[in-house]
Amino acid sequence: MPGMVAMGIPRGALEQVVEGEILYDEPMSRHTSYKIGGPADVMVCPRSAQGIQTALRTAREYGVSVFILGGGSNLLVRDGGIRGLVLNLYGTLKEMRAEGEEVTAGGGAKVTALVNFCARRGLAGLEPMAGVPGSVGGAVKGNAGAFGATISDHLAAVRVLELTGEERVLSREALRFAYRQSSLTEEEVVVSAAFRLRRDDAAALQQKVARILAERKAKQPVEWRSAGSVFKNPPGNFAGRLIEGAGLKGTRVGDAMISPKHGNFFLNLGRATARDVLALIALAQERVREQSGISLELEVRVVGEP
Ligand SMILES: Cc1cc2nc3c(=O)[nH]c(=O)nc-3n(C[C@H](O)[C@H](O)[C@H](O)COP(=O)(O)OP(=O)(O)OC[C@H]3O[C@@H](n4cnc5c(N)ncnc54)[C@H](O)[C@@H]3O)c2cc1C
Repeated sequence: MPGMVAMGIPRGALEQVVEGEILYDEPMSRHTSYKIGGPADVMVCPRSAQGIQTALRTAREYGVSVFILGGGSNLLVRDGGIRGLVLNLYGTLKEMRAEGEEVTAGGGAKVTALVNFCARRGLAGLEPMAGVPGSVGGAVKGNAGAFGATISDHLAAVRVLELTGEERVLSREALRFAYRQSSLTEEEVVVSAAFRLRRDDAAALQQKVARILAERKAKQPVEWRSAGSVFKNPPGNFAGRLIEGAGLKGTRVGDAMISPKHGNFFLNLGRATARDVLALIALAQERVREQSGISLELEVRVVGEP
């Protein structure tokens, strides 16, 4: 219907109540590390916690679905885009504060900023997360990890806003973390996360962060557009090694390519579509299953319409 955002929010309704930017038919490719993804019907970039609340209330009022977006670094958004409202939290909820050995970070804060914030203050624990792209909220939701550690290792509690507008504090135990997963639902916005760290020498911690960043750069094609590891590592094995073993490094579909440097990184060489990447995913799953009998499970989240 003219004048309506698909799914029913009248034009202007969000602008009247939400503090922040409202974007219509916004290409998701502008908001994902892959630089891939069709348009979101409407994207709200709130400037405040009030903006988040009112955006959610408006979506509820008009029965529109909500997708929560962080840094877009673990997402493959299909070429048809996302119907409904995308709540873009990257760039809001960025504040960080330290009280003794406890650090609290907003859900939209960058993980890299949090790691540096802690290292500079001589607070140890989060250094292995150096160089993990994206937001604190996205990292908590997917229990991001690197170098044998995960974001949940030092987590004390998380403040969550339900899509209904209700706020709750959840303990680490309540979030039931496992390998690249938590029990958070698609209906829960991570507003902030509190970490319990330990004292150490700030200079030594900053050096450790620099070492980890150098190691990442040596092993991963960080200079290319990707969403990090495409597949989870199967128990006792590595997805990258299995893909390499299947002879697939360097394989291309359109402008999507399996990295010649790391078999679990699929790259967008320039104009790749989600369809290209999905074809490579299907190929890798098929060949690895044929070769080793192992079914590779996705780590990257595939969302949106074909
Ligand atoms: C070069 C590169 C290297 C990477 N290396 C690693 C690595 O070493 N380890 C690793 O684990 N990952 C890695 N990743 C993947 C990615 O960085 C992580 O999964 C990251 O934690 C995703 O955070 P995000 O904010 O980008 O989330 P998004 O991709 O925006 O979203 C991911 C999921 O989290 C949800 N979400 C986002 N923000 C919130 C919030 N505030 N509240 C509730 N839900 C939310 C989304 O709805 C979605 O379900 C890498 C990616 C790239 C591009």
